Amino acid sequence: MSKLAASPEPKSLETQPVPGSKVVSYPARDADPGGGITVVRALPLRQHRLVGPWCFFDHYGPLTFGNRKAMDVAPHPHIGLQTVSWLFDGEILHNDSLGCTGMARPGELNLMTAGQAIAHAEETPARNSGKLHGLQLWVALPDRERQRAPSFDHYKDLPVLEPGGGRVHLFMGELAGQRSKARAFSPLVGAELKFETNARMRLPLNPAWEHAFVIIDGKISLDGKPLVPGALHYLGTQRSGIELSTKDPARAVLIGGAPFEEPIIIWWNFVARTAEEIQAAREDWEQHRRFGEVKAYKGARLTAPSFSARPIAGH
Ligand code: MN
Repeated sequence: MSKLAASPEPKSLETQPVPGSKVVSYPARDADPGGGITVVRALPLRQHRLVGPWCFFDHYGPLTFGNRKAMDVAPHPHIGLQTVSWLFDGEILHNDSLGCTGMARPGELNLMTAGQAIAHAEETPARNSGKLHGLQLWVALPDRERQRAPSFDHYKDLPVLEPGGGRVHLFMGELAGQRSKARAFSPLVGAELKFETNARMRLPLNPAWEHAFVIIDGKISLDGKPLVPGALHYLGTQRSGIELSTKDPARAVLIGGAPFEEPIIIWWNFVARTAEEIQAAREDWEQHRRFGEVKAYKGARLTAPSFSARPIAGH
């Protein structure tokens, strides 16, 4: 678990305006959420707790490994959010307290809607490719949906756009007139952008939404200006499109959505509105109430950290 309050203060790298609206770049930071992997965390930021309904952005890998289990995140609880597991390489096996199981692979989304309570485990399966590279993202549920019953869905057939210059895998929400069938509860977009050599890719954006952009591999320019790697590039609202260019193959992720107007609290694996809700969820997990058990996982479950006012984010 990593204490966000102990992380270095993100600072702006680039503040000059570009056509459309200002881009502000915030360095991502290393974090150790447990489970055997270190991650680069782009969200939450002090300046932006959310981008649309997206409230958490972890990037891990690329890793290669032999016999060891690269990822082993023991059973732990969630409330008030959806977890979005999207891989560029390798495999992750999900098991949860509903008895659902799902194997995330490149192009195949694992989407867990925690609602009022769920517990899950995520681990490298026994039969694996020896590689792992991907994202763990969270979407905050709006107040009217956050007490809903939990669910888990695995999606294989997601839209692939070819806007010129490469391919776009639309794993959540809407982009360029296409829509992912993955179940969402707020207007949003989540997409992987894969660029060819000497690519120039134009994508329309919804100007009422805010967007952000994270480079995964390679070098990418936005509206002709090189973007700093290892940062979250916040694009704001009032932008009706972006033009991205690369010399060599590259990969990035675009997230966005309607600005999320409800203030949220993130503590450990919980997204809530009040400290009392967080404390109640923590107590229910520790007392084996509400969340159920992940019967398919062989091993002990995680213990909640002690409650404090400091935000602590997990997985
Ligand atoms: Mn989790």
